[in-house]
Amino acid sequence: MADSARTISRDAEVIVVGAGPAGSTMAAALAELGHDVLLLDKASFPRHKPCSDYVNPAGAQILAEMGLGDDLKCAGAHTMEGMLVHAPNGSRFLANYAQAEPGRAALGLSRYRLDNVLLECAKAAGVTVCERAHVREALRSGDSVTGVTATIDGTLEEIRAKLVIGADGRNSAIVRSLGLSAATHWPRKTGLAAHYRGVNGLERYGEMHVGRDFYAGLAILECGLTNVTIVVGDNLLQRRSGSIEEFFAESLRALPAIASKLDSVERVGGIRGVGSMAHRARQTVGNGYLLVGDAAAFLDPFAGEGIYEALRAARLAAPIASAALKSADASARALAPYRAARRRAFTAKRSVSWIVQGFINSPSLMNYVTERLAAREELGLTLSGVLGDFRPAGQALSPIFLARLLRP
Ligand SMILES: Cc1cc2nc3c(=O)[nH]c(=O)nc-3n(C[C@H](O)[C@H](O)[C@H](O)COP(=O)(O)OP(=O)(O)OC[C@H]3O[C@@H](n4cnc5c(N)ncnc54)[C@H](O)[C@@H]3O)c2cc1C
Repeated sequence: MADSARTISRDAEVIVVGAGPAGSTMAAALAELGHDVLLLDKASFPRHKPCSDYVNPAGAQILAEMGLGDDLKCAGAHTMEGMLVHAPNGSRFLANYAQAEPGRAALGLSRYRLDNVLLECAKAAGVTVCERAHVREALRSGDSVTGVTATIDGTLEEIRAKLVIGADGRNSAIVRSLGLSAATHWPRKTGLAAHYRGVNGLERYGEMHVGRDFYAGLAILECGLTNVTIVVGDNLLQRRSGSIEEFFAESLRALPAIASKLDSVERVGGIRGVGSMAHRARQTVGNGYLLVGDAAAFLDPFAGEGIYEALRAARLAAPIASAALKSADASARALAPYRAARRRAFTAKRSVSWIVQGFINSPSLMNYVTERLAAREELGLTLSGVLGDFRPAGQALSPIFLARLLRP
């Protein structure tokens, strides 16, 4: 037992650590499959979370399949038919989801509201939710995870379970305590996000603006709010002379197409930031544990797939975890199909995201590619579907696609 930890009667069949999109979705799915699930989060909900608040089309479809369409509408989710991408030289390409496949659209909704909708869904499915429960580490017996320690109401408690799901984001205590963090040397970027009221000129599409040293995104949200996020190299942020507020404002002024939209608008709330975003765990399953969402891996928000991956991973993992629990075998071997399912679902798209990183980090390449995507409609629609996760990522990795994209 950890020093001075109390054993109490919160033990459950499954503990899910973290009530973000991955954790709440996983918890709800396992409860629906008949399991006794305890969901722990250090925050008190609803809570804000630094994010661009954009759910890509495939993520929006999963939310609809979960039966949350009406809840999201009530929460004020804004439908975006596409994403207008601006290159450093001012050329533009519209990732037009609706044209790539009729009915496809992304959603804009603050994480304050989205994550609360998902948490309520977990509660309705029968999950026991414990907020303000700060998980410190995974408990182990031999080479198996057997529970967690968590500080709840100021007391360190030991809680046991047959299976622990690490869904506690990119600074996962589960990943850290199991020594699973893999070194990520590139990209080292920080995201800074804020909400504004009264931004004009946005209706059907979100916007991405790639500058020389950073990029910015605009997403339309509930109640007339717009999310404005910038993503910048850690080095550049550390070398700034003024405050974060000044840096944020100056960066936005440097992008004329954004600056004109933010003229005389009101910021609502503070600037929320996350540093050194890229993260990867060395393995996603082991004896008695499984990782979903950012706890497993996260690269960069440019392609807007983080929430989708969190939702999808949870839905891939739940039946595999359920089968393991029902056969009283939550070993790494029983959970291994999840690793294979992740590979099938995410590996090709991850390669596309790395290629996109190459584009956005090279202004001349970004200019070149954006001009070609704008001029070659078929290629633009293929990439729209791949970025929106509703066309196989392999379509954008084929030599024919890349040759047609890159030839003058
Ligand atoms: C600046 C920025 C902008 C982004 N923009 C987008 C975007 O527009 N679209 C998109 O799809 N993705 C975006 N992402 C990525 C997206 O935010 C994540 O991929 C997504 O939140 C992952 O969900 P998750 O459930 O895995 O983790 P999270 O959403 O991070 O949730 C983790 C939960 O775990 C809890 N937790 C953490 N540690 C503990 C602990 N020790 N004990 C108990 N609870 C704990 C936290 O309170 C939190 O509620 C962005 C990321 C950043 C940094």
